[in-house]
Amino acid sequence: MTETKHQGLLLIISGPSGVGKTTLIERLHQKFDFAFSVSATTRARTEKETDGVDYFFLDEITFTQWISEDRFLEYAHVFEKYWYGTPRDAVQQKLNEGRIVVLDIEVQGAEQVRRHMPEAFGVFVLPPSEEALHQRLIDRKRDAPDVIERRFAQARAEIATATAEGQTTYDVHIVNDDLDRASQELDGILSERLKRTD
Ligand code: ADP
Ligand code: 5GP
Repeated sequence: MTETKHQGLLLIISGPSGVGKTTLIERLHQKFDFAFSVSATTRARTEKETDGVDYFFLDEITFTQWISEDRFLEYAHVFEKYWYGTPRDAVQQKLNEGRIVVLDIEVQGAEQVRRHMPEAFGVFVLPPSEEALHQRLIDRKRDAPDVIERRFAQARAEIATATAEGQTTYDVHIVNDDLDRASQELDGILSERLKRTD
């Protein structure tokens, strides 16, 4: 992976599956102009998702090909099952245009990005409690029960990593308790970061 220079802002938003990242990013888009990085994944498309908009849905052979062609800024194997990765060129192009680029990625990917682009800004979204997170995964009505349990197990591990003493991947943690409140907090954090010139 190569280090790159840019003028825009790379905003990483991570947090366990079901914590409300997609919802918070949609809210953020009502206030800020940014480009959302469309990831590639080998998981199946759900009914509500559109190929090329929510994700690029790839088979494993194509995903592996993209890895060998160095087309990912970062990539990770998630839930011991699927590959997810951020296509490098689209992100770089938008940053070169001076835009804010938002990545919705998990912890391993965020660590890779931060290592190579320390100027990126990392936000980790926490649930108000583990029980609330479990309930949101159920309420979303998107995944089968075994998938929900796998996502929930992964969530616990991600929270432990992201909140560990001395971690350097995330600049701030936001608790998504009340959606309006959390959304306002995220707006405020981004506004403050944009005022900085470094
Ligand atoms: P993620 O993108 O992190 O996987 P989603 O944005 O899909 O999570 O949210 C998961 C579910 O939780 C959705 O049904 C969403 O409407 C709901 N949700 C999001 N934020 C809150 C909140 N603050 N309180 C209650 N439910 C929420
Ligand atoms: P979902 O299947 O719920 O859309 O996403 C599952 C997890 O994969 C989430 O934690 C999400 O942040 C993460 N994810 C989505 N795209 C990427 C990506 O490009 N890279 C990495 N590392 N994680 C991703």
